[in-house]
Amino acid sequence: MSFMNQIDQEITRLETLENFVEVYREIPIEAIIKQDILRLGLRFDTKALENHTYKTKDYFIFTFDHVPLKDQPEEYRFKAPEEIKISEGYFNLLPTVISVRIDPNSPYYVTTNEENLIVLKLNDTVLGKVEFPPVPSWYRYKTSNGKNPNEIAPVIEWGYLIYLTVFRNCQYFGKDEECAFCDINHNWRQQKNFKRPYTGIKSIEDILEVLSWIDQEDNIAKAYTITGGSVITELQNKNEQDFYFQYAEAIEKHFPNRWIGKMVVQAWEKKDLVRFKEVGIKIYHPNFEVWDKRLFSILCPGKERFIGRDNWIRRIVESVEIFGPSNVIPNFVGGVELAKPYGFSSVKEAVHSTAEGLDFFMSHGVVPRFTTWCPEPYTTLGNQQKPPLRYFLELLTIWKRTFEKYKLPVPPGYGEPGRGKAVFSVSAFMDVIGYEGR
Ligand code: SF4
Repeated sequence: MSFMNQIDQEITRLETLENFVEVYREIPIEAIIKQDILRLGLRFDTKALENHTYKTKDYFIFTFDHVPLKDQPEEYRFKAPEEIKISEGYFNLLPTVISVRIDPNSPYYVTTNEENLIVLKLNDTVLGKVEFPPVPSWYRYKTSNGKNPNEIAPVIEWGYLIYLTVFRNCQYFGKDEECAFCDINHNWRQQKNFKRPYTGIKSIEDILEVLSWIDQEDNIAKAYTITGGSVITELQNKNEQDFYFQYAEAIEKHFPNRWIGKMVVQAWEKKDLVRFKEVGIKIYHPNFEVWDKRLFSILCPGKERFIGRDNWIRRIVESVEIFGPSNVIPNFVGGVELAKPYGFSSVKEAVHSTAEGLDFFMSHGVVPRFTTWCPEPYTTLGNQQKPPLRYFLELLTIWKRTFEKYKLPVPPGYGEPGRGKAVFSVSAFMDVIGYEGR
């Protein structure tokens, strides 16, 4: 076994991080640690959660957890924070916001120190002090229909992004259609099993009511995302575009340009996108998921069958004419190219493939981003190994190089870029922008 393969299979130790800090000098240390925490998840000491007020996980679209809700320690099921912000510690980190993915086996442990301050530990080493996100003031209300704001319009990214999953299911259903890494339908079932309030199709009325409080009280939220599962037939007697359009239209009519409007939906034809732009939507995320042609058809069988990869690519490129190149931001699910048995057998091949996709889109001025795949239970890929940290560091490095090669602008709708400033919490792509190396 080669040295690198050996490292790939190890659980992270301090020496692992120190080694990577030496090797990957084009990306900040904060980004290295962030990617590893996203990859391996977090476990919590209940002492760290006691006697604090903070925003807990709202399960805004997926679970992102590594174990089913029913198997999570009761002491912190539904009590974990949405994100953590770590700073200082062994590597003297600048503040770094990281999405919480629960994994009771993670080496990363949120606990308290002798002074009762919350810290993040890797074995015996304190990697940083920890903050939890504040609860927005308007979370205290209830809508006229009796709904909680955190269910209707939760915020993530330390309050920056209002996340509107208006349809909490996907009509790509079951192994033959659902994307193999996606737990939207499984998350829905789990929340329902725990009898949590979890509205399947959100009413425009509820959303507007919550947004009116945000409009009045909140200066942190700067963007909103309208998203949800794909609509293959009809939903409420509407086709997919009509269904999603009604939300964009209502929000922009009541609060014109108050926030940056983003749509995370399928790849649509230009003619279907025009009215979204006209009504005030600024950013379009037709998520591509995985670049390799063969893997796209295996891992996104519904998308392949109903739209097809070539159409998906064409539609992304053409949507540039509507929104402008840097406002088209398709997502890749980073690491899913390594899923067995169909995926690439080495980090090198996996990164090479995705780098080809990054280069293709960036050469058209489009700025693809990536999120960090975690094999969520119940998904087709739920029992897979997590991708090695080296994969994410290679991918971040190549993302940054390609972004710089094409001299692309900072993607809008993500807040400030850069080390110590980025709030995008499910990958470190915003953290690396502008970093000059060490
Ligand atoms: S299209 Fe795929 S990724 Fe999107 S919600 Fe449906 S199953 Fe999930």
